[in-house]
Amino acid sequence: MIIITRPGVTDEELDHIRERIEALGPRTHLIRGEHRTVVLCIGDQQDLVNVPMLSIPGVEAVRPVMKPYKLASRQGHEESSEVQIGDSTIGGNALSIIAGPCSVEGLSMLQETARHVKAAGATALRGGAFKPRSSPYAFDGLGEEGLKILSDVRAETGLPVVTEVMDTRQVDLVAEYADVLQIGARNMQNFSLLTEVGRLHRPILLKRGMSAKVTDLLLAAEYIMKQGNMNVLLCERGIRTFEDSTRNTFDLAAIPVLKKETHLPVVADPSHAAGRRDLVPALSYAAIAAGADGLIVEVHPNPEMAVSDGDQSLVFDEFDSLMAGLAPFAEAAGRTL
Ligand code: PEP
Ligand code: MN
Repeated sequence: MIIITRPGVTDEELDHIRERIEALGPRTHLIRGEHRTVVLCIGDQQDLVNVPMLSIPGVEAVRPVMKPYKLASRQGHEESSEVQIGDSTIGGNALSIIAGPCSVEGLSMLQETARHVKAAGATALRGGAFKPRSSPYAFDGLGEEGLKILSDVRAETGLPVVTEVMDTRQVDLVAEYADVLQIGARNMQNFSLLTEVGRLHRPILLKRGMSAKVTDLLLAAEYIMKQGNMNVLLCERGIRTFEDSTRNTFDLAAIPVLKKETHLPVVADPSHAAGRRDLVPALSYAAIAAGADGLIVEVHPNPEMAVSDGDQSLVFDEFDSLMAGLAPFAEAAGRTL
């Protein structure tokens, strides 16, 4: 960490800054420039995270030299990580396509969807059994019955299943059934939940919060990894902006930024980003071109009757077209489908 002092800082202030830092462990080194003096802090930067640096007299600004997300960062872990999901991996050359309904509504609709998306090339099945809903009166999922349906459909199709966990009290239950546990956008900074899923060895699909910066997403991943679970997938699903022609604003640039910053696989969710099915193919292609390792896409046998997110769910034919349309983009990005 580099501490930049204000112009005209006194020797007493410099001594005090150095004493404060050194009392916590790190060593310091002064660099006196023509206009400014900076204090270089050498040692474990974690010792300094709780220090309100700007409150120390003479300090003007602080610049970290190491990323605050040590485990998620590419600094010191240059090679991209691959995460095992069922029989396949995500983060390698082959793209992962996770598809399925927003909510598990029943056995037959999930079976039908799973058979279809599998035939079209999907590598995993999504479906929410516990649903976070903006309105407390909206359908909030089938709960454990939904988890059983997911596991029955996995047994039939062989597709690994991705489903959301919303609460620390549900972690063990959801982990009994799910191959990948999703942490939704609304829970990205539920630190107790992140810590709890960090104790599992199961992959976690961590979705970016609606108002979260990329750094916030990486720090949320760090909470999980700090507990020992390195199997984290990051998901860009759109953020809230002033733009209202789409449900969220798809932050395409976050994908290459994440690929630079972290070794973890990155997935894009064009469905929640767009909120409307007609935009899903374009956003999917763009995400793959930008370097995403996979997609998570909502597909429903009859979106008109869907209990959640019908407007953004693709019908089967549209999913087939999406997969066909994806092929040249995958090839151009040097990936396989
Ligand atoms: C979902 O995947 O259905 C969902 C609720 O996503 P998000 O948390 O991104 O809104
Ligand atoms: Mn949804």
